[in-house]
Amino acid sequence: RAWDYAPAPESADHVKIASRYGLFIGGKWKAPLSGKYFATISPSTEEKLSEVADAGARDVDDAVRAARVAYDKYWSKMPGSERAKYVFRIARAIQEKARELAIVESMDGGKPIKESRDVDIPLAAAHFFYHAGWADKLGYAFHGRRARPLGVAGQIIPWNFPLLMAAWKIAPALACGNTVVLKPAETTPLTALMLAKIIEEAELPPGVVNVVTGAGETGAALAAHADVNKIAFTGSTDVGRRIQRSLAGTSKRLTLELGGKAANIVFADAPIDQAIEGIVNGIYFNQGHVCCAGSRLLVEESVHDWVVKKLRDRIATLRLGDPLDKNTDVGAINSKAQLDRIQALVEAGSEEGAERYSSSCALPSRGYWFPPTFFTGASQSSRIAREEIFGPVLTVLTFRTPEEALEKANNTMYGLSAGIWTDKGAKIFWMAQRLKAGVVWGNTYNKFDPSSPFGGYKESGFGREGGRQGLSAYVELE
Ligand code: NAD
Repeated sequence: RAWDYAPAPESADHVKIASRYGLFIGGKWKAPLSGKYFATISPSTEEKLSEVADAGARDVDDAVRAARVAYDKYWSKMPGSERAKYVFRIARAIQEKARELAIVESMDGGKPIKESRDVDIPLAAAHFFYHAGWADKLGYAFHGRRARPLGVAGQIIPWNFPLLMAAWKIAPALACGNTVVLKPAETTPLTALMLAKIIEEAELPPGVVNVVTGAGETGAALAAHADVNKIAFTGSTDVGRRIQRSLAGTSKRLTLELGGKAANIVFADAPIDQAIEGIVNGIYFNQGHVCCAGSRLLVEESVHDWVVKKLRDRIATLRLGDPLDKNTDVGAINSKAQLDRIQALVEAGSEEGAERYSSSCALPSRGYWFPPTFFTGASQSSRIAREEIFGPVLTVLTFRTPEEALEKANNTMYGLSAGIWTDKGAKIFWMAQRLKAGVVWGNTYNKFDPSSPFGGYKESGFGREGGRQGLSAYVELE
């Protein structure tokens, strides 16, 4: 597969991070009108990596104007077959710069290099390849109906998969003929800025993609802008709801990809060793900073003790440390604020009477770290069983029958994803039809493909990204 090509990063020495980044507006790099910049640091060393522009409402306005001009003048008039070439070019450039992007992603966000190298960056390229293929086939995607672009899309993304989330947003928007103003997360802006550089080098018409860095206020200014036709948001349920309220009474289109508290359900007849790998991947991948993380393990009571023992043994072997070390399994927590949130919820878990087990791995003296942890004996109503922790912390619950597993799995305000482990295919189908979750994995976890729609039920949001369904968020059908 074309997107498997991603050279292994060997060292960070040759990676050049600029000491300061401006805003990418109308095809040019600009200083913010306020003259203000903020630092982005490495969460594994607490060292400053760079300074990025803090975009205010007037910068956001400039970016939206540039996107509108690009929409009217070039992008909406260009045949899909031409847009496809540009989107394809971005995909190839991501592959060519895969090594550098992976290293910067791990430095800025704290995730292990083997994840950014093997998952984030190749999947980001895959997303652009996939959508390049749709750009001239929209009539086919919508069964012969004419699909018109919406106009200017404002896109706001979180810090857990910075480049991949940018790709999930930008690729379908461009393929469908929209122009974009992207607002990356404040703790991980660097790979989105590198993507802006790639887009500049791919010679997209100026203003087709604009990148404005900043914190929540920048995102709020983008969401509030009168000339934005669509907002695509990925982030916390709280902020998603706030944006939804702020859009009430406007004709802006909105999609929300929000939080989760997914059930990873292990039946006694499951291939247990395979399931243990799936549990570990489900919750410790990217330090649990994953919206679809399998953060509630529902295990059939008869195998609970056995599974817990195997899980203890397995997490003792996970290597925590330098994100740039190819052998690292668990990297740094993305920010001090996130570490504080994780610690507070873990304390609540112990106070509420659950039994805590944490890997005894040594934590580096600098940076933000949390050891792989799980709780047993938690009640279904406890905070650690209900709230999204967004860290490497698993809550183990039990069930006796498939009906009870289903009832407990659905007993959450979220509905993003779920996993089922069993050797009975029929049980997977029975459960999958009844789970209120946008994505259900059978005997696997955290598998992503650009052709599979991803998105939530309930408080996990609405709208789908990826696949044919994801395109519909960026078109008006006639
Ligand atoms: P967050 O909601 O704090 O921030 C997300 C983005 O919104 C950031 O760019 C932030 O600057 C911006 N923002 C903050 N306040 C804003 C406001 N008032 N108006 C507009 N924009 C604003 O979330 P986070 O902490 O960056 O990310 C973690 C959350 O994201 C978790 O809840 C996780 O489950 C969720 N998430 C969901 C998905 C999904 O696909 N469903 C994927 C990744 C992460």
